Amino acid sequence: MPSTTSPLTFDIKPSANPLPEADRLKAFESLGFGTLFSDHMAVIRWSEGKGWHSAEVTARAPFPIDPASSILHYAQEIFEGMKAYRTADGRAVLFRPEENARRFNESARRMAMPELPEADFLAAVEKLVRIDARWIPQGEGSSLYLRPFMFASETFLGVRPSREYIFCVIASPVGPYFKGGAKPVSIWVSQDYTRAAPGGTGAAKCGGNYAASLVAQAEAYGKGCDQVVFLDAAEHKWVEELGGMNVFFVMADGSLVTPPLGGTILPGITRKSLITLAHEEGITVEEKPYSFAEWKADVASGKLKEAFACGTAAVVAAIGMVKYPDGEFQISDGQTGPVTARLRDALIGIQRGQSNDRHGWLHTI
Ligand code: PMP
Repeated sequence: MPSTTSPLTFDIKPSANPLPEADRLKAFESLGFGTLFSDHMAVIRWSEGKGWHSAEVTARAPFPIDPASSILHYAQEIFEGMKAYRTADGRAVLFRPEENARRFNESARRMAMPELPEADFLAAVEKLVRIDARWIPQGEGSSLYLRPFMFASETFLGVRPSREYIFCVIASPVGPYFKGGAKPVSIWVSQDYTRAAPGGTGAAKCGGNYAASLVAQAEAYGKGCDQVVFLDAAEHKWVEELGGMNVFFVMADGSLVTPPLGGTILPGITRKSLITLAHEEGITVEEKPYSFAEWKADVASGKLKEAFACGTAAVVAAIGMVKYPDGEFQISDGQTGPVTARLRDALIGIQRGQSNDRHGWLHTI
């Protein structure tokens, strides 16, 4: 479905009951991930024949959903995840938001949903961050996580694309994603479950992918691991990605290896940014299939020195321990290695406005 270019006019309706400042400050003392929400939300509606309309920023509130609403039955839903940071010089910034807008539309196309013009996606996010600017936490590892999403809202039980959709952005002040903060994470290699098959929806950020991954993630928790890593669905051999993060391997010669974007993994914006930063640091990056057998053998032989996961939520997290049904292995000394730390610091430095934004990745609001 083609996009139009005209940005919408948003009706701005400030909340009559914003959280009192003292309560907000109290809540900021113990930030988790995705449990606390700001005062407002941005909403845009789409109807067949009318296109995108009724754009507004309003008090965060439940949506009335008819029991026959198609989202409840066929899961036609997509989302994005991005963060607003408060820089040391007091600016509110977004990191590469146009990449999220573009990926959102790629997901929309895969899920037979209407595309939202990138300008409207960005306007909705910006207007929400502007009205809820006091909700951007300042501490290290803290940010305002933004969740743009779109769902099928037509009241209809037939199996076909909905003729009505709601696009919405909500905001949640967050602390570090993993309970251990910047400590290395442990991961469980799923043998029984896969995340995405060729021709499936692996490259789209649709809710169904995450629903399908929950049982594997629960298994990982059961094994005492922080995250699950999936192998490919066809051969059950190649490392693909984690439940919500891409993965990189650091070889002894200092080069990086990361699985290629072949349609079954999510094209991460953190992944893309790290590839650019690695090239700048003179680090070779190979986007190539890498098997779990190679991973095990390369750790044993010392050919692989570090591995890390990356994504908007956790940014860069070293992988310290890998467990699988027949055993487990530690990567080097199980701590964050020097290449992982260097790339993480380089990326965080840009995101937080501490280093030169030479690529123009920051979008000041
Ligand atoms: N893979 C999956 C399955 C994810 O959910 C995410 C988080 N969006 C990522 C990778 C990392 O993507 P990004 O760096 O754009 O957050």
